Amino acid sequence: MTNQATERVYLGLGANLNAPLEQIRKATNALSEHAEINLVASSSLYGSKPMGPQDQPDYVNSVVAIETNLSPLALLDITQKIEFDFGRVRKENRWGPRTLDIDIILYKGEEIENERLTVPHYGMKTREFVLYPLDEIAPNLCLPCGTELNALLKTIDKNGLTILASS
Ligand code: ATP
Ligand code: MG
Ligand code: MG
Repeated sequence: MTNQATERVYLGLGANLNAPLEQIRKATNALSEHAEINLVASSSLYGSKPMGPQDQPDYVNSVVAIETNLSPLALLDITQKIEFDFGRVRKENRWGPRTLDIDIILYKGEEIENERLTVPHYGMKTREFVLYPLDEIAPNLCLPCGTELNALLKTIDKNGLTILASS
């Protein structure tokens, strides 16, 4: 038995361009095929409303749990390379449409703050498309700050979040 809060890393995936459902499935495969990443759980694929600019397609989101010995920054290098391989173009405007976004939501119960990385991810407590998929694969999780996932779920509206498909 592993302690899910202190041993696992949780990644949030999102896409809203170029067959986003397939982007998320293929990105999950790419993560699982990496020699230093062990994929241990993946949520259903969810449909969600865009943040920020509304003149863009709805998103597909999921959360996956991995086990890895990679450092947080080494993992970020890998997730950013996968984003790039999947055609991600970083634009000036934040929250614009994208083929793939992979965010590090939680890293082994650690709090990390440096110029490339803030973990827990700064938006996780308020994003329905992170909290509900996370609850599917890590029910009763406790954040490093002591906040219970269950408590957050009580405060966050689903905002039209729907399950589109199994992972
Ligand atoms: P948001 O961060 O609001 O979800 P986004 O995912 O579209 O927006 P990106 O363009 O993917 O933003 O990332 C911008 C920068 O955020 C990256 O260059 C990365 O260094 C930094 N970053 C900080 N914390 C994290 C994290 N926990 N996971 C991924 N990237 C992070
Ligand atoms: Mg993001
Ligand atoms: Mg990102």
